[in-house]
Amino acid sequence: MIECGREADVFEAVAFGRWPSHAAPELQAHVAGCPICRDLLAVAAAMQDDRRRLIRAAEPPTAAIVWWRATIRARAEAAHAAMRPMTMWQAVAGTCVAALTAAIAAGVWRSGIAGSAAADLVARLAISRAGSPLAGFGIEHALLVLAGVVACIVLAPIALYFALADD
Ligand SMILES: [Zn+2]
Repeated sequence: MIECGREADVFEAVAFGRWPSHAAPELQAHVAGCPICRDLLAVAAAMQDDRRRLIRAAEPPTAAIVWWRATIRARAEAAHAAMRPMTMWQAVAGTCVAALTAAIAAGVWRSGIAGSAAADLVARLAISRAGSPLAGFGIEHALLVLAGVVACIVLAPIALYFALADD
């Protein structure tokens, strides 16, 4: 015999805290004579003790603290969501500024390093293209504008990608 018809009653008495003081005398008498219910009682009582101890040891926060934490978290998440596009545009602007700075630096470096050669070239171009409207523009400025245009062409898809990735 591995089952007893009173197991549910014994378990219920233990689970609801009625065992042993508030349990029916008839049930107590049955448990005293039934090995299956005695085993069940031993296991259920141990689990019930453990549960009671855990409940006593637990220190759940008060409702006010839970509410306060939820409010703080909601505010932080809203602020984070609002800052995201701003951060993205700052990154795009920073990239543009860095690229422009690099382009200007490259133009300055070229005109500085190849100063004498560029001067010769500019002089020759100025002589050979004296009649053209670009004659007085200067090769350094042309290089600078070219670098800026290239930077814009390279950075435009990146900026577009970030703008569309936000959605
Ligand atoms: Zn029994």
